[in-house]
Amino acid sequence: MNKLTSTHRPVIHDQSVPTLSIVVPMFNEEDVLPILFERLGTYLDDLGESYEIICVNDGSTDRTADLLNDAHQRDNRIKVLNFSRNFGKEIALTAGLDVAKGQAVVPIDADLQDPPELIEAFLEKWREGFDVVYAVRRQRDSDTAMKRWSAAKFYQVINRLSGVPIPANTGDYRLMDQRVVRAIVQLREQNRFMKGLFAWVGFRHAHVAYDRPKRAAGETKFNYWRLWNFALDGITGFSTVPLRIAGYIGILTALAAIVYGLFLMLRTMIHGVDVPGYASLMVAVLLIGGLQLVVLGVIGEYLGRLYEESRNRPLYIVESSHGIEPDEDANT
Ligand code: UDP
Ligand code: MG
Repeated sequence: MNKLTSTHRPVIHDQSVPTLSIVVPMFNEEDVLPILFERLGTYLDDLGESYEIICVNDGSTDRTADLLNDAHQRDNRIKVLNFSRNFGKEIALTAGLDVAKGQAVVPIDADLQDPPELIEAFLEKWREGFDVVYAVRRQRDSDTAMKRWSAAKFYQVINRLSGVPIPANTGDYRLMDQRVVRAIVQLREQNRFMKGLFAWVGFRHAHVAYDRPKRAAGETKFNYWRLWNFALDGITGFSTVPLRIAGYIGILTALAAIVYGLFLMLRTMIHGVDVPGYASLMVAVLLIGGLQLVVLGVIGEYLGRLYEESRNRPLYIVESSHGIEPDEDANT
């Protein structure tokens, strides 16, 4: 092994620092929780590493909070953060990263679509010296054709527009060294497109391929409208190219208008005054009016986000927690 890859992880003997922190954002997951704890718990116990499971209850309105409380009573390695309302998955994940103490941190979906069995492979790569090990979906048979198509288009667009490459077919499922997590939690923007933030901080990374299974129970929390907004967050958060495109559209139409204007002047000089022309006038007025609205819309999209950031609100509000010291949910 060469010098670069032989950076073996130091062994830390501090009892309060587990090797692994598993972070699970959950929103109305009562159906899947028993299966999750059974499968994840058994797997982690067999793995033989010290661990904690941080459950971020993202304002669930079903029995999720009660089930989590019971789980914590049974096993204090299961820690719970209850939000005061639904803040969205990206923010729930951030809150989990804020309090995760483990030497390595693994965010995972509650519905078991991220098979826990990959963690062993993650740990192996991490011990080889990689700071980030992310899971890449080999095929997406469990998703509808429409979702696969829109996801492929999304990665194509965002990777063309943004400065940091975001690996396609990855989710939030990955292992990160604690130092990567510390870097990520320093980014406090409101627009939290986690895949972008993960890519932005950099560090040495490797990947592990897997087949994404279907949800173990319950229903998806993301409909197409939510996914569309998620895509807009991703693009506006990591690229200002749309603003530039808006500018180019403006320049092109202005040039076209000048050329057309010259043509009209010449025609009038040669052929005299020409009264008909209603159609061309209407076309020009409507086209340019429409373009102006589009460009204003793009500018508005960024302005709105700027406004959101400038208010500087905390990212989330914790209603209660179990097994997590209060000073740790510093959420500003
Ligand atoms: N989730 C969340 N807050 C939300 C929506 C979803 O914490 O507002 C959690 C959800 O409980 C699950 C994960 O995010 O653990 C992924 O959600 P889901 O499985 O519904 O998304 P999909 O896999 O369909 O993209
Ligand atoms: Mg899912």
